[in-house]
Amino acid sequence: MTSQNMMQEHVRKFLAAELLPNVDQLNEDGVFPEKVFRSYFKAGFGASFFPEEWGGDGDILGYLDAAAEMGRVDLGFALSVMASSVLFGNNVLLHGTDEQKKKYLPGISDGTKIGCWALTEPSGGSDAVGTKSTCEKDGDHYVLNGSKTFITNAPVADYFVMLTRLKDSTAKSGFETGCAFLLEKGMKGLTTGQPLKKMGHKTSPTGEIFMENVRVHKSQLLGAEGRAFLDMKKSLDFERASFSGIGMGIIDELINIMVKYAAARQVFGKPILEYQLIQEKIAEISAQFEVMKCYTQLVRDKISRGERITKEAAIVKLLLSRLGVRAADQAIQVLGGYGYMTEYKVERIYRDMKLYEIGGGTSEIQQLIIAKETIKEYINKQGVMA
Ligand SMILES: Cc1cc2nc3c(=O)[nH]c(=O)nc-3n(C[C@H](O)[C@H](O)[C@H](O)COP(=O)(O)OP(=O)(O)OC[C@H]3O[C@@H](n4cnc5c(N)ncnc54)[C@H](O)[C@@H]3O)c2cc1C
Repeated sequence: MTSQNMMQEHVRKFLAAELLPNVDQLNEDGVFPEKVFRSYFKAGFGASFFPEEWGGDGDILGYLDAAAEMGRVDLGFALSVMASSVLFGNNVLLHGTDEQKKKYLPGISDGTKIGCWALTEPSGGSDAVGTKSTCEKDGDHYVLNGSKTFITNAPVADYFVMLTRLKDSTAKSGFETGCAFLLEKGMKGLTTGQPLKKMGHKTSPTGEIFMENVRVHKSQLLGAEGRAFLDMKKSLDFERASFSGIGMGIIDELINIMVKYAAARQVFGKPILEYQLIQEKIAEISAQFEVMKCYTQLVRDKISRGERITKEAAIVKLLLSRLGVRAADQAIQVLGGYGYMTEYKVERIYRDMKLYEIGGGTSEIQQLIIAKETIKEYINKQGVMA
């Protein structure tokens, strides 16, 4: 067994013992499984892609496999884990100073601290450059004002990556006004709201953040002043690929559920699995899933070679989220009335999966990225001017 497979096996066993038995009730009650979350990190799974010096094993591909296991069990849990380790942690890894890494990564890695990453605002999430939250320079400090919404883990977070725009900047382009800060719970002027009620991902707390004259030393600036929106593009590629790791697990699980149910369910005197219209649904999802497996393997290879994956990550996110929603829809159809009942987990997966077309950049935004990258590529190939 390779070390990647071993990690996956350990994660599977952990989740089967610690999360699976209570996952339906947790979702029913909308409860964040904080204890399991912390032990998942303590066991070394939550942030395993961190380099060894920061508490991980540096194995990104092993981490993606582990993500698939989380996806099988509970998408809400997986989202909260990744918001802490990938959205918060990976941004500190990529853009943080040594001091910042020393201060923030150990707690994230062992689960004693919970992180979040805050870009989206009540006025919009797709247009990062349109960020309204501001930071204003005051000597060696910055003063932050504004509000964020839909932020995963905000209600339980200790650490925040906060995206703002430099007030009164003279930069030519809005892209050069972004400033990210590392904030901590309890800072004067920083407050969070109650968990928001939502369609799915019930085990992952989502919430608002408010900043009223939050005064932070310049050492809390993450990356260079004015670089945050540009840095964000780099981190989002890995984030999109990582979240898609979860999707692979859930689609596999949906095919499992369809086949198992259809083999057992008798209608008109025989198992529905024998009906071709049922087989057609399995074939549709399975065919696209097999193609996705090949494509995600290509992306994984690029990740392991440290190559740029902007277009590929957007393609994976777009197609995998579409497939996930379609697979959940088809699974409900195969299960008929039982599929519509909360007792069967396909309706939960359907509600959870819908977020993949919205969070981390909507499907429309992925299409824009793919178009932009493709046009650039073909213009270069043809040697014509844009
Ligand atoms: C459960 C949950 C968890 C989340 N977690 C986080 C988090 O941890 N951190 C965080 O920062 N955000 C988070 N988000 C926010 C999420 O990333 C945003 O909802 C998403 O980016 C879309 O932003 P919006 O909701 O403001 O939609 P808008 O930007 O207002 O877009 C509305 C619609 O217009 C479309 N649209 C926008 N621009 C264009 C265009 N140029 N062309 C075509 N169509 C366009 C969009 O695709 C969408 O369909 C979370 C959201 C949810 C629901």
